[in-house]
Amino acid sequence: MKILFLDQSGKLGGAELSLTDLAKPYRHHCLVGLFADGTFRELLEHQQIPVQVLTTEPIRVKKDSGIFQSLESMNSLVPLIIKVTQIARDYQLIYANTQKALVVGAFASLFSHRPLVYHLHDILSPDHFSLTNRRIAVTLTNRLASLVITNSQATQTAFIAAGGRSELTKVVYNGFELNSYKTQANDPNHIRKKLGLDGQFIVGHFSRLSPWKGQHILLEALTQCSPEVSAILVGDALFGEQNYVQHLHQQVAELGLKERVQFLGFRSDIVPLMKACDLIAHTSTAPEPFGRVIVEAMLCERPIVAAAGGGVIELIEAEKTGWLFSPNNSPQLAQIITTCRNQPERAATMARQAQSQASQRFNLNTVNQQIAQLLDRVIFTQSLN
Ligand code: UDP
Repeated sequence: MKILFLDQSGKLGGAELSLTDLAKPYRHHCLVGLFADGTFRELLEHQQIPVQVLTTEPIRVKKDSGIFQSLESMNSLVPLIIKVTQIARDYQLIYANTQKALVVGAFASLFSHRPLVYHLHDILSPDHFSLTNRRIAVTLTNRLASLVITNSQATQTAFIAAGGRSELTKVVYNGFELNSYKTQANDPNHIRKKLGLDGQFIVGHFSRLSPWKGQHILLEALTQCSPEVSAILVGDALFGEQNYVQHLHQQVAELGLKERVQFLGFRSDIVPLMKACDLIAHTSTAPEPFGRVIVEAMLCERPIVAAAGGGVIELIEAEKTGWLFSPNNSPQLAQIITTCRNQPERAATMARQAQSQASQRFNLNTVNQQIAQLLDRVIFTQSLN
């Protein structure tokens, strides 16, 4: 099947990593069209997945844009829509992976008569998107999409609550290449020593630095834990959240945590770093659509603690495959960190159970087969019309 994938980002977020895994089986017949250049293009090229940067003009509309800003930005989208429409004629299906990709893909689908699939990786709620943006997404999807793949039930529920047609939706969780998490290549003790954290209980946080990812909650919790608990913050500000990065550094200084917190920036060696941690913390303050990091921690057989919101509660069985705490509740998080440190056998049992369950539920081969079947059905239905 010939697929034109569209994604607005040049950078590597969860949606882009997920698309890389989905596009791989189609690499001889697909194109990934990007609306910005960057490390995402480099990763796709490295994986030999055809990629083209379709524009380098920034699309000014933001997640909180109002109606006027959105209409203004539509003008700047016209050349891109024309370009995508022309390219789409060589493909059987348009697969929009982000919201701006949906806007461009929806019009290109209308003009090229190619079916549109929208892979929704976001919770369409006021926490994350303005009313205007939610309306645009839902209206275009309801009118023009043949299928909406949502990455969790929480994402599906928010789409329907925003006015989306439920019969279009299908929940498909992210899949993961299981072998990538089995590697023993790097000795965890060596990494701990290299970080200068040998003998410490290491809590790992793996996420872009952004206020709603809640790194500040982990820092608050650290002050309520033993001085032998340290944290590594892995990830960078991807979408211009420099003020937050500054805030985090200031918080570390003010709370006297300089010896216990390390900022490692964006890393591509997530697996060995996770394996060097004693616990992975996921601290989103707003509902998380899915939370790839949680599944990755499970596959690395590391204990996980996560804020109970959005798709997270679909991933973790509380006290069996991980710990849940109330979003924003740093004392509760501190308590769980302490429990995990004091009860290593219980933590190891939970991590083993999580690893086994996650390997069953989030196997990339199964997920890719599921998506292939859904896309076949879209093409078949289109051929009848
Ligand atoms: N990630 C990474 N390097 C980093 C930080 C994060 O490769 O330095 C990866 C992480 O392993 C995960 C993804 O980025 O696969 C983030 O996905 P998630 O669903 O957790 O959050 P999103 O970015 O989609 O909000």
